[in-house]
Amino acid sequence: MKIIMLGAPGAGKGTQAKKLAEKYGIPHISTGDIFRANIKNNTELGQKAKVYMDQGLLVPDELVVDLVVDRFKNPDCEKGYVLDGFPRTIPQAEALDEALTKNGDAIEYAIDVDVPDEDIIKRMSGRRACVNCGETYHIVNIPPKKEGICDVCNNSLVLRDDDQPETVKKRLAVYHEQTQPLIDYYRNKGILKTVDGTKKMDETFDEIVAIIEA
Ligand code: AMP
Repeated sequence: MKIIMLGAPGAGKGTQAKKLAEKYGIPHISTGDIFRANIKNNTELGQKAKVYMDQGLLVPDELVVDLVVDRFKNPDCEKGYVLDGFPRTIPQAEALDEALTKNGDAIEYAIDVDVPDEDIIKRMSGRRACVNCGETYHIVNIPPKKEGICDVCNNSLVLRDDDQPETVKKRLAVYHEQTQPLIDYYRNKGILKTVDGTKKMDETFDEIVAIIEA
């Protein structure tokens, strides 16, 4: 099962992607998580990516595509995967198609988690991430068990640099300009499914599962 999650930053696609990965026993591949892990470990890739991420800009395509295509070689991808945050541009989507077609493969579902910009801005200001493991929470919608502390590793939760209000506005503008065209790209391929991302997290998840199991 090969799934792409589409949607603006903060639409909840990461949360839905994780739940899908768990339900279907396939890996959740988040390019944002991969970059953040590289930043934390101060790798060369991390240093390059951070310059773009801190400004709310996309990391250049050439730093992203090989990373993801290489990840597919891992045996855990045999049954499929959920891609979260990739592709984010038309050239990335074309490179993905090319890599998959070579192996006679294809993406089965591109799921667009649809949320209006006003809701996104409200949501992002409540988002908190663990300084250590990167797990994300929301002060109202997905609160940690103990305020300000990560359930997974007990470290502090912070508002990520790229979730600061000015950066969020920039990320939304970048989304509309560079990533939204993917909606038509996958619609034209006949695999686009749109779900309402303003509902409660579990209701949106049920909507996605109904699509996959239809
Ligand atoms: P995310 O956690 O998916 O919102 O990603 C955080 C940041 O990582 C984005 O704002 C981009 O700067 C960068 N990033 C993640 N995935 C990609 C991608 N596929 N292409 C370019 N930049 C990306």
